[in-house]
Amino acid sequence: MRKVRERQNLEFWVNRGVRLISNLKFIVDNNVGKLTKWLRIMGYDALFFDGKNDSRMVAIALAEGRVILTKDTQIMKRRVVTSGQLKAILIKNDEPEQQMHQVIDTLNLDCQFRPFALCLECNQPLLERSREQVKDLVPPYVFQTQSQYMECPACHRIYWRGTHWQAMTRKLDKFTKG
Ligand SMILES: [Zn+2]
Repeated sequence: MRKVRERQNLEFWVNRGVRLISNLKFIVDNNVGKLTKWLRIMGYDALFFDGKNDSRMVAIALAEGRVILTKDTQIMKRRVVTSGQLKAILIKNDEPEQQMHQVIDTLNLDCQFRPFALCLECNQPLLERSREQVKDLVPPYVFQTQSQYMECPACHRIYWRGTHWQAMTRKLDKFTKG
């Protein structure tokens, strides 16, 4: 019951073009898989669907209240989608950056929602770690120069604000400005 209400709320706000601050979750079809990483960088819960069974993807989306992102026109013809029960976005462009712009524009996404809050590999919320906690887990030059660290509870990757992080931040800025 709660799930249904959440989904109705989502529709309500999306239809009014109001910027969502929470609860927006995605399931990303493998034909637009590159979107997964970008959504996670922005902090949106994004599940990558690597299967061939569309019905399975639709079932997960319904059960977990996820928006489907796909290039598959067949999915858009399904009754759950045409009736509005399930939100799906048909991605038109082949180029990942343009695809991302389509998603941002369609849902009025906040690109700076929760940047770098999720593991880019596992979609898990990252946990803050002190310098001491990661001393033996990061390269010495990183330990010397960085003070803020995050760890994924699932894969135990350690994240810090290095050059890769800076490059992604610039890209986020670009998305934000359109
Ligand atoms: Zn992880």
